[in-house]
Amino acid sequence: MSDIVIEARNLTKRYGNVEALKGISFEVRRGEVLGFLGPNGAGKTTTMKILTCFIAPTDGTALVNGCDIFEDSLGARSALGYLPESTPLYTEMIVEEYLAFVADMRRLDDPKAIDRVLEETGLQDVRNKEIRALSKGYRQRVGLAQALIHEPPILILDEPLSGLDPNQASEIRELIKRIGQERTVILSTHNLAEVQLSCNRVLIIANGELVADDTPDNLRSQAGESFLKISFKLGEGQSPDSVRSHLSSVEGVARVETGEIAGTEAAFHVFSESGADIRAKIFQSAVEGGFTLVGVEEQTQDLNQVFRNLTTTEEERAAAKAESAAAPEPAAEPAESADETDEEAGDEDAATETGDETPETSSEKDEA
Ligand code: ATP
Repeated sequence: MSDIVIEARNLTKRYGNVEALKGISFEVRRGEVLGFLGPNGAGKTTTMKILTCFIAPTDGTALVNGCDIFEDSLGARSALGYLPESTPLYTEMIVEEYLAFVADMRRLDDPKAIDRVLEETGLQDVRNKEIRALSKGYRQRVGLAQALIHEPPILILDEPLSGLDPNQASEIRELIKRIGQERTVILSTHNLAEVQLSCNRVLIIANGELVADDTPDNLRSQAGESFLKISFKLGEGQSPDSVRSHLSSVEGVARVETGEIAGTEAAFHVFSESGADIRAKIFQSAVEGGFTLVGVEEQTQDLNQVFRNLTTTEEERAAAKAESAAAPEPAAEPAESADETDEEAGDEDAATETGDETPETSSEKDEA
């Protein structure tokens, strides 16, 4: 039996003029918990919808458990459980009734399937409740239960923790870990910390292209990389671009990123080749080039910077920085609004524990 359970080959998707996927290829091995990470609009949902046969790619194909999504779509679909983004459920149904309905749709002939899946997802105590009376965390469990009912070897979960409070997120994360012990799981998220907690491999997607395929540990080690933050006062005729290209030409410099720009002061993040000390060379070349150097600081890259570097271009980062430097300071939050948020989170926690939230509060929260 092959160890590869998903093979995406040159997946391309165009929605009119939007090229959502630009020919991505990857493989997923049996037993992996793969994090599919990327900013909003990167193409995560599109990839998941293609793998689960909800939409067809414009070009390319994929094999799911050995079944081609075009030639044997039923075979592919029966091998996977899918939890789409924002958990579509028939909320007026009773939990058990809904799962019986899903089992029927899947033509399951296993009388124990519902009990098994209720136990697996910790739903026994709320089996007779209406779905709309459940907290968001418990609704997510129902979503997982429907994805698991036919015991698929592969689970595809689109942003399974989005919209959950920290307690609910931690419970669902643990549940996914447990479920993932015997299955292959692909989960999408735009939260870098999340893949660190849940996944043993990460694919990073940006603008419809794969930009990284690595382990969370390797990403973390990139995060520890140090760089020099070097600030310049821009003189007449000097621009951030001219300083950056001057810095890039200094011997021993591996790469330069534009940092904060405030008025005539511009900062750059300078990474050296193999960690060499390049401060003296930078000083010397600044003097020779007629650039006024006003600060040098050693700093360490954090994970968010690694993610930003992988998923945005230098131009996008520079434009975002220029925009935030020009934007006025945000006004302080009024005290009442902070209180409301705390209360709401508290209510939701209680509902998570007991599954005892009223339908009215639940729908109010969803609207909020
Ligand atoms: P998010 O985290 O916001 O869900 P994503 O990474 O899942 O983002 P996709 O939903 O796959 O990204 O979208 C990729 C691109 O395709 C985006 O530019 C999006 O606007 C576009 N897109 C997605 N679905 C459609 C559609 N049905 N029609 C037109 N454009 C679409």
